[in-house]
Formats: sequence, structure tokens, C-alpha cells
Amino acid sequence: HITDNENLRTPIVCVMGHVDHGKTTLLDRIRGSSVAAGEAGAITQHIGATEVMIDSIIERSGASGMKNNFIVPGLLFIDTPGHHAFTSLRSRGGALADLAVVIVDINEGFMPQTKESLQILKRFKTPFVVVANKIDRIHGWQPHESASFLETYNKQSERVRTDLDNKFYEIVGELYNSGFNSERYDRVSDFQRNIGIIPISAITGEGIPDLLMVLLGLAQKFLESNLHYNASGPGEGTILEVKEEKGLGTTIDIILYDGTLKKGDTIVVGSLGEPIQTKVRALLKPNPMGEISAEEKFQNVESVTAAIGVKISAPNLDDALSGATVRAASPENIENIVEEVQEELDEVQISTGTTGITLKADTIGSLEALVNELQKEDIPIRKAEVGDISQRDIIEVSAIEDPFNAVLIGFNVKMLPDAKEKAKGSELKVFQNDVIYRLIDDYKDWVQEKKE
Ligand code: GDP
Ligand code: MG
Repeated sequence: HITDNENLRTPIVCVMGHVDHGKTTLLDRIRGSSVAAGEAGAITQHIGATEVMIDSIIERSGASGMKNNFIVPGLLFIDTPGHHAFTSLRSRGGALADLAVVIVDINEGFMPQTKESLQILKRFKTPFVVVANKIDRIHGWQPHESASFLETYNKQSERVRTDLDNKFYEIVGELYNSGFNSERYDRVSDFQRNIGIIPISAITGEGIPDLLMVLLGLAQKFLESNLHYNASGPGEGTILEVKEEKGLGTTIDIILYDGTLKKGDTIVVGSLGEPIQTKVRALLKPNPMGEISAEEKFQNVESVTAAIGVKISAPNLDDALSGATVRAASPENIENIVEEVQEELDEVQISTGTTGITLKADTIGSLEALVNELQKEDIPIRKAEVGDISQRDIIEVSAIEDPFNAVLIGFNVKMLPDAKEKAKGSELKVFQNDVIYRLIDDYKDWVQEKKE
């Protein structure tokens, strides 16, 4: 059936997984092969994201007869950032990502960040698929560039296929242990009850057409209601990164997930303190010509409509907070919007004033994930805040008498130099890591040791 897709936005897809399992390579391949295939307009490079157009996905998978069956305009992949906490980014509706891809090195199997990704997806109820990556590393594998998985699989020797199957079922077992039933994607009849696993190689491109088709199928099945949006409404987005740009000062890279944002719009931006009220000076997209000099790096546009990744240049963005919301406002509703943006931030700045340990994290989403995991372990929390570890944190925590609570946990944050200095002579224990499970395990091991 042909549906009016005018008001369905592009689904936002996040690629998650353990370090080195292939997130960056997968996105490069998705981008690169479209470019290499000379498909004009097949992809669009955004700030912080890559959009793959529906026509290109269908063409690649050789299912051109199905063109009219799809109602979404394409898929917007959030580019893999340096650190994984982006995977817990939120929008007002819940998770920022509408869909996720969990990548697992088929030869290594599950790792701590794989499990962490699954926990986050479970909590947000985000539909996802698993890719079993690096199939080309299986001994004796004969690569078939960009082929569908089944095509290349059927051309492998029996030994290679058995080897793949064995590794594959280990992943099925791991997923089961994490509370998910799963099957190879082509055998899944009900994606609501079973997670589809797609074996791929991010290097040779094998299985990628299947991955894109499965994602489209998921979007189609589960997201239709989430993807209705008001293209002419006020812009609303999530901050991916706060970035210094030569000649522009502090800018914010955002994913706009609703409405339209225009140059000159008044915006409310979530920050560590009071929400910032400022005016959009420029909306910047990457320059398709790929120039290197700062002035030519970006292209100025008058307006952008969701879903899209864009850089905002505006005054006073220094204290903007990654993970926080950006919303366009009018004189009539600005007070309400400031209040709402503030409330979202307050929700996670839990400060009980009683006893427990102290947490710092880089984004709201990651702080929330950390609080959630600690609460599951019944570990009491005194205070949880976004930001680097400061001197004030050290002073506060080292004043706590109970040694089990004189603990500071930093997730994906730095310890500022003066804090480092202060910590030297202080009676407190600091844990820092960029994997939640490691932080919790380290903390528990330490408590155990201390009790003995
Ligand atoms: P990330 O940390 O998840 O972003 O992982 P990367 O994309 O940086 O990949 C880590 C390493 O694995 C790099 O050396 C990649 O070239 C390699 N790699 C990623 N995907 C594949 C694959 O499908 N096959 C092979 N052989 N190597 C891969
Ligand atoms: Mg990477």
C-alpha cells in the first residue's frame, strides 16, 4: 500500500557495542559504498549523523519492486562518537534513537559494553537488531563484496558455514542470558518476540544490505506512531556535543528530532546552571565539497527540518550540556519552555542530602544509566551530577565520615587539575571509567576487600 509519508520523519538509528567491535567501520562502509557506487543523493552527510535514503537501501538489497511498501524517507545513523555514553541520549519522548544496532565481533562474542548496550535498550524499550560482525575473519571465508548474507553464506564451504553457525549460536546463548530470544534475521517471523541477528562484515560489506532492510522493516512495523511529527512546528532537539569552532566560538551539534529550526529563532538550551536563552546566529551543515579550511568547512542554511543533524552557532553556549534539550521558543511560551527544560535536568540531579556515594557523569543520559545500575545493586547514592570532577566534589566527599560513602564515581568524566591536587591529601576513594559495569565491579570489589 502507498501511504502518505509527508509527516513521517526519518528514524534515528544508533550503533552501539563494545569498543573495537566495528561501529566506526560499519558507518564508514555504509557511507563509503554509497559514494563508491556513484549513487547521487544516496546519502547525505549531516553534523553528527549520516542519512541513507530509502531508494538507495532498496536498490542495494535488490528489492526494487518493494519501493512503495515503505513509508519512511530513509535512516539517520548517529555517527559513532568517541565515547559510548551517547547511546543513552534522550529526547522528550524517551530515547533519542528510534532504533538501534548492537554490534558484536562474532569471533570475540559478548563483552561488557555489549551487555551495557542491551541494558540501556531494555530500559528504553528501543527496538534493535544485533549484527554479528567480522564474518570475513572466519578462517577460510571467501568474501563476496557487498553481497547479501545468504548469498555469500551459501557460497562458503561446509566447514566455514559450520564454524559461523557455532559462533553465531554462542551469541544467541549470550542474548538469552541477557533476557532476549533471538534468531538469524531471515528466520524471525515476529520481530517483537525475537531479536534478529544479522551476520555481516563491515569491511567487505557482506550482510549490510540485509541489515538496512531489516532496520527499515522494524521502522515500518514498530515506529509509525513515533515518527509522526509536526514539520512546521517549533524545532526540538538533543545536544550531541558542545564544540569550540575556530571563528565561531562555542557551538552545539544537535540532532533535531521534531519541527523546524530557523536562523534567528530564540532557543532554550539545557545547561549545568539555568537553561540558556539565546538566538540562533547560524545553522551549519557540513560542506559537501569537503573543504578543509574552517570557513569552508560548513554551509550556512536558513532552516532545517527534523530529523537532521546540524551545528548551531549562537551566543552564550559555553555552559550548554551534551544530552540536554534544545527547543525553539516564542515570547508567549518561553517561560514555560525554560521551566520544562529545567525540570528535565532536575529529574536526574538527584540530591537526597542523606547518605551514600557521589556520582559524576558526562551527560544526562549516562548519569541516568549509572544511577539506574547502582540502584539495581542497592548501592545508596548521595548525589548524582553531570560534569567533570571538581575541587568542590573532592572537598564535599572527603568530609564524609563513613569510609564506604566517602566514594566518588566518575563515568566518562575528567578530574580537573585542582581537584587532582586536592584529592592527593584527602581521605576518599575515586573510581573513574567509561564502562558502567567496570565501575560497579571495581566499587564492589573494593567494598568487599575493605570489609575483610
Ligand atoms: P569501534 O571501536 O567499534 O568503532 O571499532 P572500529 O570500527 O574502529 O573497528 C576496530 C577494528 O576492527 C579496526 O581495525 C577495523 O578495521 C576492524 N574491523 C571492523 N569491522 C571489521 C570487519 O568486518 N572485518 C574485519 N576483518 N575487521 C573489521
Ligand atoms: Mg569507533
